[in-house]
Parts: sequence; structure tokens; C-alpha cells
Amino acid sequence: MLTSVVEAAPRPAYRSYRTSVARVRRLTPTFTRVTFTGHDLDGFGTAGLDQRVKVVLPNAAGFAHFPDGDDWYRAWRELPAEQRNPFRTYTVRAVRPAEREVDIDFALHGDLGPASAWAGAAAPGDEIVLIGPDELSPDRTSGIDFRPGAVETVLLAGDETAAPAICAILEQLPRDAAGIAIIEVPHPDDAIDVRAPEGVEVRWLARAAGDAHGDRLIPVVRDWVARSCTPDDELAPSEAALALADAERADPDDGPLWDVPEGRSLDGDCYAWLAGEATVITTLRRFLVREARLDRRRVAFMGYWRRGRAELE
Ligand SMILES: Cc1cc2nc3c(=O)[nH]c(=O)nc-3n(C[C@H](O)[C@H](O)[C@H](O)COP(=O)(O)OP(=O)(O)OC[C@H]3O[C@@H](n4cnc5c(N)ncnc54)[C@H](O)[C@@H]3O)c2cc1C
Repeated sequence: MLTSVVEAAPRPAYRSYRTSVARVRRLTPTFTRVTFTGHDLDGFGTAGLDQRVKVVLPNAAGFAHFPDGDDWYRAWRELPAEQRNPFRTYTVRAVRPAEREVDIDFALHGDLGPASAWAGAAAPGDEIVLIGPDELSPDRTSGIDFRPGAVETVLLAGDETAAPAICAILEQLPRDAAGIAIIEVPHPDDAIDVRAPEGVEVRWLARAAGDAHGDRLIPVVRDWVARSCTPDDELAPSEAALALADAERADPDDGPLWDVPEGRSLDGDCYAWLAGEATVITTLRRFLVREARLDRRRVAFMGYWRRGRAELE
């Protein structure tokens, strides 16, 4: 007798959620928190940390053409350009399944991009689509890039676009974690109250007039790493060459700037998570790998945006 076994396709990691704005709260001069509500947000993924999502923005037709369903991206690409809704990447700041709510903190940078312009004017009732994690999917953590393994000391460093992710990570670290979070922001009042473990220092650095992105962040990270992280001198020569080639390849004008190694346990030394403007992140990564001689597998780096360029969809 022939038996056929039909296996159900695994539930995709991400799905679309039709939501509307429940509340908007201006946290600081730069950050605004938008709380989204939606009938099925009780199924939104709760894994947290730096979980990324896509915020799909309305166009002239609202969301009339936006394709729902598992295959939304392929269907979206096949639409004529004028019907395609723009979307941008953001971080889940908090999820409250029982209230069917999700918070996202937007760093406002004026009306230059559709996401910042939308968030700056958001009001209760505004509709939005989130492409977010599905709590029931076996792959629900696939949009999380903070993977320190068993490394004891963490360095979290970034600019205002990384602040929501850094705050969310800080709130989920084990209470006995050690390390530092260094966050560069546009304004002296941009420091956000965050519950960090006692052993993790949180340093907010405000840019002064005329400062470029990274002017405050880079020297402080360099100084802390030089004092706190032991070089990985056990790197095999081939690995060191690989690390160098990697750093060369990660040029901000030359393709994506993203590497998220699986953290590994190397006797309690540093794990670095770096996110923000691409050239700044490249500079920091080069310093960590070449000068401070950290094994590249200890360094997660993510160019969250590039000066002068819209996010590619
Ligand atoms: C995984 C991931 C998670 C992210 N999480 C967050 C988050 O939680 N909160 C958050 O605010 N951002 C976050 N970002 C960054 C955000 O996606 C970008 O800033 C994005 O470009 C904003 O879209 P936009 O439509 O406003 O501007 P775009 O249309 O993409 O860009 C328009 C112009 O604005 C410039 N620009 C973009 N961002 C900034 C900025 N912050 N300051 C100054 N100029 C800028 C670009 O260089 C470009 O010239 C995240 C990015 C990634 C990849």
C-alpha cells in the first residue's frame, strides 16, 4: 500500500499585521514612541532583543495595493512602482500581546525620508502595516542579531537609530551581565531611562554643534575597548588574514555592511554589537578587528543607514 506523507510547510518567521496607531509619545527631542494596535497583535513575536521589523508606509492609495500573505515581498515587487508602498526597517521596542500592542521608537530626522516624515506627524487612528515576527513560527528569532553566546562582557555601541535596540537588549540582559552601552545622540536631552543590569554602564553622548556622526562615539569606544578587552592572540594566521579581508570588503561604498557572527565563548572576554551610520560602524569595526585584535566572531556590526542614501527596499 502506498502512503503519502504531506508535510505542512513551516510557518514563516515573519508575517504582515494591519495595525493602527493607538498612541504617540514624544520621549525626547529626537525620539518619538508610536504604539501600534491591531486585532492579531496577540500573535506578534515576543523574543525581543534587537528584533527587527518592517514598517510599511502609506502611499496615495493608503494600503489598497499592499499584498498580505506569506509571499508579500514577491507580490509587492511585481506591483507597478507607483502602487508600491515604501517600507523601512525598525526595531521592536516592546510587545504587549495581552493588550495587542507593539511599541516602536523612531529617531526623527526631519521630512527627508518617508518613515521619519510619517512618524513626525503620526496620530491615533493612522493606519500602518507591520511586517513582524510570528510568535508561532519556529523561526521567530531569525530577525535577532544580538548573539553573544556565553561571552561575559558586552559592548553595545551605536547612534540614535540603534538606541531602541540597545535599550531593548539592556532590558533583557541577565542581571549579572557586565559591560557598557555607548550611545551617541543628537541632543543633550535625548538620554532615555533604561533598566540596565548594575554591571553595565550606560553612557549617552550628545553631539555638539558641528559634530559629525561618530565624532563622540568613536573615541569613547576606542578607549573603552583598549582598557577592557583582551586581544585574541590565539587567532590562527589564516583566520587573521580572513578577518582583515573581511574588514577590507566591508567598505561603506561597496555593498552591504552587515556581519552577525554567532557569538562564541572565549573565556569571558568581550562581545561587541555595533549599529548605526555605515561609515562610523566601519571605522569602529576596523578598530576592533585590526587594532584591538578581537576575533571577528566577537564583533557583530550593522550599518543601519547610510548618509545620503535612502534605505534600499
Ligand atoms: C535592523 C535595523 C533596525 C533599525 N531600527 C531603528 C529604530 O528602531 N529606530 C530608528 O529610528 N531607526 C532604526 N533603523 C534605521 C532606519 O531604518 C533608517 O534611519 C531609515 O533610513 C529611516 O528611513 P527614512 O524613510 O526616515 O529615511 P530614508 O528614506 O531611508 O533616507 C532619506 C535620507 O535620510 C538619511 N537618514 C536616514 N536615517 C537618518 C538618521 N537617523 N539621521 C539622519 N539622516 C538619516 C539617509 O541617509 C537619506 O539621505 C534601523 C535600521 C535597521 C537596518
